[in-house]
Amino acid sequence: MRWSEALMATRRTVPAEADTPSARLVLKAGLAARLASGIYSLSPLAMRVVSRIERILREELDAVGGQEVRLPVVNPADLWQATGRYQSIDDTLVRLHDRAGRPMVLAMTHEECATALAREMLVSYRRLPSLIYQIQTKFRDEARPRAGLIRLREFIMKDAYSFHADAEDLDRMYTQMLAVYRRIFARMELPVLVVDSDSGLMGGRVAHEFILPADAGEDHILACGVCGYAANREVARTTLHGTASVAWQWHRTEGGRPVLAALPRGRHASLAKLAAAAGVPVTPWDGHPPWEADAPPPGTPVVVDASLKVSAPPGGLVADVLEVAGQDPCPTCGAPLQAVRAIEVGNIFKLGTHYAERLALSVTGPNGAPLVPVMGCYGIGVTRLVAAIIEAHHDGAGIRWPASVARWPVHLLATHPSAEVVRAADALYAALGRARCLYDDRSASPGVKFKDADLLGLPRRVAVSPKSLAAGGVEVRQRRSGQTEVLPLEAAIAQLS
Ligand SMILES: [Zn+2]
Repeated sequence: MRWSEALMATRRTVPAEADTPSARLVLKAGLAARLASGIYSLSPLAMRVVSRIERILREELDAVGGQEVRLPVVNPADLWQATGRYQSIDDTLVRLHDRAGRPMVLAMTHEECATALAREMLVSYRRLPSLIYQIQTKFRDEARPRAGLIRLREFIMKDAYSFHADAEDLDRMYTQMLAVYRRIFARMELPVLVVDSDSGLMGGRVAHEFILPADAGEDHILACGVCGYAANREVARTTLHGTASVAWQWHRTEGGRPVLAALPRGRHASLAKLAAAAGVPVTPWDGHPPWEADAPPPGTPVVVDASLKVSAPPGGLVADVLEVAGQDPCPTCGAPLQAVRAIEVGNIFKLGTHYAERLALSVTGPNGAPLVPVMGCYGIGVTRLVAAIIEAHHDGAGIRWPASVARWPVHLLATHPSAEVVRAADALYAALGRARCLYDDRSASPGVKFKDADLLGLPRRVAVSPKSLAAGGVEVRQRRSGQTEVLPLEAAIAQLS
């Protein structure tokens, strides 16, 4: 495509709130324009990257029997009330009313909807296993959108749901999806880590996250450089033990009841681990509660962290509730763990029968008795991937797109308006075609054109100049390696087509 026909706009300066490399490059390269906090319009340039990402997702999911569906964005609230999430999720879930006054929600994830669809269509165990997926816009009213396309309020997501006759079959699919996700990220040249994670509000038990180490990330990971152990900070383990110095810390349940935890002095509880130990979600208690640690109100759950030397008081329990920090020993090999910032690009969960039971999903089993399917779910943030790929592939001059997702493979430019140069550039463009080549046909200076080529980061830049023609052809430069060679026109066409 000729630059002069394309809806494109590069810029040299961006607002200060663009605080990560990808946030700056997204704006500078004209991939997206901010409309409101956490809400961006995607340009044609970004949409083509998105559609190439989506194609990879569809190919890999279809290859393991995935079938694409489209689930509604607006859901009746009763579906979410039945699973308890209407009550438990904060204002991130947008609640609204339709014209008849019926409560509705904007679905920020689709376990409820997918289960409701399965209820209609999966009548017999013979239909199991079943894997469905969709690629769709979601809205989450995040309190703190940030980092450009990394934490958005409106974004594109691929979400998939699987249904199985038993837990063993879910295990098989879960293992298969781990491999599918590794292939997906490898095709985008993203060096992801797979980590154990807290399944949080999804209501699951076993979960893994795919994370990309990046300073721009908001996830905190503990990783071992020796044995490869890696886990989200919320659930990371350590072999720390025998700590003598104890601090008692109060936490509270949603209902305002206290939970008391004993931790090494100067350390915090992992809220996910403490919630699992106490059997109820907790948050730290603000200020000092009206009791002392040696006299909690009767019935208060008391949890003593397993790293401490002290034993639990009567009625209390010892459990691993410590939030692991950098330098704590690795639970597998004992080497000091490294604290790493990372971007979560995908996650997978074993949901069990949580949603199926609450939404009365059952099928006819082999012996005619009802069978409640076991479920898994699998997410990938598509818009976030655009930012993650940029975080992983950029330098001081701009983006360096992997060939698998680049908008065009070739960025062609002419540095001089002479007839000979323009003729050679036009011939190259005609041979490659608008689908494979961005042709910078602007009257801008060579300096501007080279700068924009580095910024846009297409895999190969082809420059036609009086100098290159004198040297026998056109200059082909690899954006990633910087490797440059002059090729005769015909050879360049053959190589780039
Ligand atoms: Zn280790």
